[in-house]
This record gives sequence, C-alpha cells and structure tokens, in this order.
Amino acid sequence: MTHSVIVVGGGASGLLAAGQAALSGAEVLLLEKMKQPGNKILISGKGRCNITNDSDIQEFLKHFNRNGRFLHQAFSRFFAPQLVDFFTNQGLPIVTERGGRIFPKHGNAQDVIDTLLAWFKKTGATLQPSSTVTKLLIDSGSVYGVICNGQKIFADAVILATGGSSYPGTGSTGDGYKFATDAGHTLTPLCPALVPLETRDKHIHKLAGLDLRNTGMRIYINGKRKISDFGEVGFTRFGIGGPLTLTHSRFIIENLRVKKKVTVALDLKPALDDAKLDARLLRDFQKRNQEEMQSVLRGLIPQKLVALCLNQTDLVGDKPAGEVSAKERARLRTWLKDLRFQITGHRPLREAIVTAGGVKVKEVNPNTMESLLVNGLYLTGELLDVDADTGGYNLQAAFSTGWVAGKAAAERKEP
Ligand SMILES: Cc1cc2nc3c(=O)[nH]c(=O)nc-3n(C[C@H](O)[C@H](O)[C@H](O)COP(=O)(O)OP(=O)(O)OC[C@H]3O[C@@H](n4cnc5c(N)ncnc54)[C@H](O)[C@@H]3O)c2cc1C
Repeated sequence: MTHSVIVVGGGASGLLAAGQAALSGAEVLLLEKMKQPGNKILISGKGRCNITNDSDIQEFLKHFNRNGRFLHQAFSRFFAPQLVDFFTNQGLPIVTERGGRIFPKHGNAQDVIDTLLAWFKKTGATLQPSSTVTKLLIDSGSVYGVICNGQKIFADAVILATGGSSYPGTGSTGDGYKFATDAGHTLTPLCPALVPLETRDKHIHKLAGLDLRNTGMRIYINGKRKISDFGEVGFTRFGIGGPLTLTHSRFIIENLRVKKKVTVALDLKPALDDAKLDARLLRDFQKRNQEEMQSVLRGLIPQKLVALCLNQTDLVGDKPAGEVSAKERARLRTWLKDLRFQITGHRPLREAIVTAGGVKVKEVNPNTMESLLVNGLYLTGELLDVDADTGGYNLQAAFSTGWVAGKAAAERKEP
C-alpha cells in the first residue's frame, strides 16, 4: 500500500501537518518514535506551553535570529490569530499575558496536547506511535517512502517534522538532520539557542534555585557595556538561566566563541537610582537601627543572597544597622546595583530550548516547505534553520510550517 502522505515526527509541527494534510483530502500516516506524541509541548513554557504571541507579523519576525523572512509566506497563510481560533474552536480557552505571550487559559500544556490529539483524531489521519524512521527512500530525485522499524513504508510525499536536537528525552534526537543531509540538503551548524549559561564563580553556584524577578542585567564584552535589559533571572548549579539569560544567550555564546571576556552585572534594585537607593537604605537603617544588618538585609534582598552580600561587601552581619557607616552603605549600594560575575561557558545543546542552525532555508520552498532538491519531501519546524526568542515564536513557527506543508503535500501534483 502507498500512503499519500507520511509525516515523520508527532511534535507541534508534525501533528498540524498530518491533520491538515488529512483535512485537505490526503490519506495520512503519522510516524512517531515515542509512545506518545507531543512530549516537547508538554514541557514547554515550564509546563504551561506558551503557544504563540499576539504581536503582528512584522514585530513577530523581528524575534527570529535569522531567516525570519523565510517564514513570512507561511505566516501569511496560518498565523497567531488562526492558531488562536484553531484552539478556541476546539474548545481550548486561551489567555494573553505580559509581552503578548499566549497560553492555554488553565496554564496546563497537557490541555494543548489533549486538544491537538482530539482534533487529530477527527481529521482522519492515522497515528502510529513507537515507530522510528531510520531512512528516507529516494529515487531519481523523488521521495517514495521511509524505512520505519525496519520495514519499508511507501508514500507519495513525506513530511519531515523531527524537530531539533535539544531535550533528546522528548524524542527530538536530531534524526531529521541526517535524513536531510542524506537527501542532499546542507545544514548550517547546529548550536544551542536559548540556553542557560555557566560561570566558574562558586559564589554564584551557591545561589542555585533562586529566581529573581524584576532584575536588571547588563552585559559587558571585553569590559564594554553592550546590552542592558530587565526581566527574570534564575540561578542554577552552573550559573544562570531564566528568560532574561536565555534571551541573550546567543549573543553571549557568539562572543565566548571568539574568546571575548563576557561579564554580567545584575542590578537587584533597577527601579531605584543611586540617590533613591541611598535614601531607602538610610531610612531602613535608621528605622531598624538596633537590628543586626543580616536581618535588615533580609528585607532588601532574598535570604539566599544575604551571605553573598555580606561576603562581597565586607559588611558585618551582626553589626546593628544604626552603626553602618556611609562608606559601608556605599559599598552595599554598589553591590545591589552591580552584582558582577564572569560568564565562562554555556550548557550543552541537549539543554537548550531550541536548536539554532539546521536545514538551509534556501533549499526549501517558503510557500510549501517542499524541498527544492527532492520532489515530494517537505521539511518543517525546528529542523529548519529558524529559531527565535522566548515568547511563543518557536512553537508558532512549528505550527505554521507544519500547517503549510500538510496542505501542500496533500494538494501536490506529481512532477
Ligand atoms: C524546555 C522547553 C520549553 C519550551 N517552551 C516553549 C514555549 O513555551 N513556547 C515556544 O514557542 N517554544 C518553546 N519551546 C520550543 C518548542 O517547543 C520547539 O521549538 C517546538 O516544539 C518544535 O516543534 P517541532 O514539531 O519542530 O519538533 P518537536 O516538538 O521536537 O517534535 C519532533 C517529534 O519528532 C519525533 N521524532 C524524531 N525523530 C524521529 C524519528 N526518527 N522517527 C519518528 N519520530 C521521530 C520526536 O519524538 C518528536 O515527537 C520549548 C522547548 C523546550 C525544550
């Protein structure tokens, strides 16, 4: 039997591709190597799944690091409003949060999977879990099937939606990169994007588990300030993570790669300038003048930071706040506005939110996602050399390219 469309990979992109191909009249088989599809969706957005973003296309594309323009055609066919309609029509209420981030209303990524799978079932496409594709079957420049679990399965068109290489436990082990290169495609080098960063500073390691909201971050390259931003920073056993770190990780990695010195300075009181901060400290110290500094500090910064603060400012923890000198106060002020440490590396690709690099988009038709090298082969989602900031952009790219490819593969005419 020859299927009209085989989709390899049941992530965000593959599920939409398969369902859309079936709705467009194709007989569709979705092959997913894991026991169930959509594992990465389940862990996305810290289990809340930030499905897309409500910014307009022009703004949206600015959040892609490169090749955003490639997505323009796909987005002009199926974009955030259509995705939101899609989910709400399937009975999943959604909510828009700070920064235009769109989530399922009840904050549960499982609801997104359940909704996608319920829809998928209705489309008439067939899901075959625990099915690992190991090879594409290609002859005379056209794909004619795949080898899956050791068996040949034939198809008129194959959509590769195998995702990137990060979080391999979800099933995304980068298999598609090999299939694509075997088919003659070129890859831009794979590297982690949106990845936690490392420091050798042991003081920072001790802060693991601490999350700081409303924090300023300045990034210095060889001592020169290059970026100032504001947001949430998390500390890990190796260094820092959290949205603000992830957002700037690519820039930092690029600089580390060319052996530049990268220093991060955190501003723990970004809403207060120097004068206001001094007034605030003075007021606190006068009001609580009998209390020990370590106790007063707990009112200013999280408990986990107190020991580091005392250590780096040479303040004495059990000294009464009323006895703190102007010089000591100045040291504290500097520390609060300028907690500095050097970034010495980044976590590996397997811990990245997305894989940067992938199949060169010049080799793919942006209207259909069909390979320009192999007839009937379509490439979608993270497998392509597109990656974006956090904020729902990556999932939208996966959904949109999947939707476009599914429709095009179903409607394709024999060359
Ligand atoms: C921790 C984390 C949080 C994230 N949070 C967000 C977020 O909130 N918002 C956002 O926009 N993006 C987020 N992302 C990124 C986003 O999840 C991905 O970019 C997106 O899921 C990619 O979709 P995809 O369909 O291309 O690939 P994937 O979702 O990775 O799906 C690929 C599928 O292919 C299957 N597969 C692989 N090889 C084979 C094979 N040989 N045979 C058969 N099946 C195969 C895999 O098992 C998998 O199911 C997050 C990523 C991570 C890791």
